[in-house]
Parts: sequence; C-alpha cells; structure tokens
Amino acid sequence: MAGRDATHDPALRCWVASAHAAGTDFPIQNLPLGVFSTDSGAPRCGVAIGDAVLDLRAAHAAGLVGNAAAAADSLGPLMGEGRGASAALRAEVSALLREGAAPRPDLLVPMQAARMHLPTAVRNFSDFMASYDHCARLGVRRDPKNPLPPAFRHLPVAYHSRASSVRVSGEDVVRPHGQWQRQDGSMHFGPTEAMDYELEMAVWIAGDNTLGEPVTMAGAPERIFGYGLLNDWSVRDVQRWEMPPLGPFLGKSVSTSVSPWIVTAEALAPFEVAAPVQDPPALPYLDSAWNRSNGALSVRMTAAIVTPRMRADGTAAFVLTDTQFAAMYWTAAAMVAHHATNGCNLLAGDLLGSGTVSGPQESARACLAEIGLTGPVTLPNGETRRWIQDGDEIIFRARAEAPGAVPIGFGECRGSLLPAIAWPA
Ligand code: MN
Repeated sequence: MAGRDATHDPALRCWVASAHAAGTDFPIQNLPLGVFSTDSGAPRCGVAIGDAVLDLRAAHAAGLVGNAAAAADSLGPLMGEGRGASAALRAEVSALLREGAAPRPDLLVPMQAARMHLPTAVRNFSDFMASYDHCARLGVRRDPKNPLPPAFRHLPVAYHSRASSVRVSGEDVVRPHGQWQRQDGSMHFGPTEAMDYELEMAVWIAGDNTLGEPVTMAGAPERIFGYGLLNDWSVRDVQRWEMPPLGPFLGKSVSTSVSPWIVTAEALAPFEVAAPVQDPPALPYLDSAWNRSNGALSVRMTAAIVTPRMRADGTAAFVLTDTQFAAMYWTAAAMVAHHATNGCNLLAGDLLGSGTVSGPQESARACLAEIGLTGPVTLPNGETRRWIQDGDEIIFRARAEAPGAVPIGFGECRGSLLPAIAWPA
C-alpha cells in the first residue's frame, strides 16, 4: 500500500559510513526496526544502519524522533499505533541519518555491542502453507494424483501454532523427545531422528480489529507492519504420526526462531511485484486489483548450514536453499484477510508464518523433507545430511532486490541444534 517516497531515493546518502559498504543489509533506504540492549542499558527500540544501531530512545530524548512509542522497551506500542505511525517514524529517522543532517554518532551503538531481543512479546502465532511447490512436492508421496490439500487453491491453509516458544535468532534449540510409529509398526519414544528447518517469511501485524470485525482485502495491507525471517523448526517423525486429523502439535511447538530486525512494509514498497496468477481465481473476498499487481514481494531467501566439522575447519556456510518469496501462491495480504474472515481479532504484534518458501527450482526446496526426497544432501567436505544433526547451525538470510532500487537485507536468523537431554528418571 505504501508508495515510493524520498526515503527510497537510491541517491540518498548517510553520515554513517558503513551504511555504504558493498553488500550491506542496512543502507539508509532500509531502516529496519528491532529491540536491543547493551551491557549498560535495558532493552529499547533501535534502527539498524550499516554496522550500527540507532538508539530510538536516545533519539526521542534528543527531540529528533517525536513519537513516544519509539522510546518503549518493545515495538508493541508502535505496532499498536498502526502503519501511519511507522511511516512517520521512518521519515524522521531517514531525515536524521541522511548526509547534510547534523551527524549524531552519540546516538549509535556498534551492532556487535547490541544484544538483540524479540521485537515484541508474541501473543499469537499462526503458520500458513502458502507455497504450491512445498505442498505439491511433499503431497506427491501421500497421493500422486492429488498432491494438494483440497482447499489449497481456494484459501491459504493454516493452523494455530505456539506463541510461547517463539525465540529470537541466536538462541539454540535442544533436540526434542517425542513419540512416533516406526516403519515396522512398533511404537517408539525418544529423541527425534528427523529434525528439520522450514525457511519462512515472518509477517508482523499492525493494529487491532475488534472481535467479530473481518479484515477485507482492501484493509489487509495496512495490517502488515513488516517482515522478517522465520525458522519453523519441525520434528518430522513426531509431526507425521500426530497430525491426523487435527494437524501439527508437538512437531512444531518445540521452537520457532525469528530474525530480530523487522523490515517494514514501507521499506519494501519498491519491491512489490505482481502476485502469481491463481487458477482458479480466488473468490472475491480473497482478491483485489492491488493484490494482483502489488501483493507479492521480490525477496531472495537462502538457508545455509554449518556442521561442527565445517566450523572446526573454518569452512564457509553451505547454501541448502535458494528461493524467491514472490513465488508464493498466496500473498501476505490474502493470509491476513483470510485469518480474519470469521471476525478473528488479529492483534498488534501477532506473528504469521508464510509457510515454507519453496519454489519450482530444485535449489528452491526450502526444508530437508523436500531436499531429502532425492536422497541425503552431500556437503562440499563429503559429509551428508538427511536431517539436522547435533551441533549443526542453520542460517537464514534474505535480500529484497528490484530494478531502480537499492537492495535491502533482512539480517540473519540463525540457530544451532543441541543434543537431546537425558530423559528424567
Ligand atoms: Mn511451517
């Protein structure tokens, strides 16, 4: 919904030199929001710029940022005020950081000194399944003639997932215990043998709708505060056994990792592209002219692995997945509108997962369940992986790219798998 304005100008320059470093995720055209603390300070909101964080609480105290919500200890208040507030804040921060303004290095914290926190307390987390290729690849094993769930082409399929175990990038995941049936029919309980990642886009909600009040496709874009990376850690052996008929439960609630920086919907305006053509066309309540022309986002997303041996050898992370968010069958706006069709109240700071962002290319299989359909993946050092092993680290990155726009990045979402606990006696 946001258009291009002065904050997207490719010619804009910034008095923070590192914002001009080649390949930086955080040029002045990005200005993503997050929550950070330092050894000497409590959690507060900040903006990533080059290799530094602009302290929004300090900027507010200096009178350079008007909105008191920017001085809060989380992004929740700003999310509650809606898109107008985040757009106004973006304009102020852009003016404060651009070349020609009085430099204020005293408002910056080196990113290396910033400890990142969850952007806001997550009250609700729903996870979608919006990729045709993810559904089709995995569905073929269930029913080669009808690989897609019957509703897939008619609505964005989703389930209510777990909010309390959403964690910020960098926090490790312990291999969980669970129950499943082995291929010979025997029952098993123990540490999972099929730990997986799902490369997803996080969608953070702005504003509230009253219970009973739907969100239309016209109103849905205004309810999207911004986007981040999301790893929907998945326990495949547990998930397969527990799913019928109510859907995922313990296979998904072990942990969900999100990147700390939220790239705002305003920042992504230059990267809006046409959504894939739907066949059959969506019903009118899930369709709009804007959604068809601008509902998708041109964001390249990758997932990479570092094994303990690679870490010891100093080997670079190996890219397992290289995919495009724009290929998703359902847009974020359609997810928001669908979620509130029945009047469900979406709250500021609610989190939506897009579902695994897989594409048609072999390299765009965005989880090991898909990659492993053709056998274990072989890493450059000869190691193989069917599932994530203890000590493996999974690293997501993403970058929005479009002609005539300065590319902007999402930072990272990373997490390592730690060995299972000894089950309590
Ligand atoms: Mn998922």
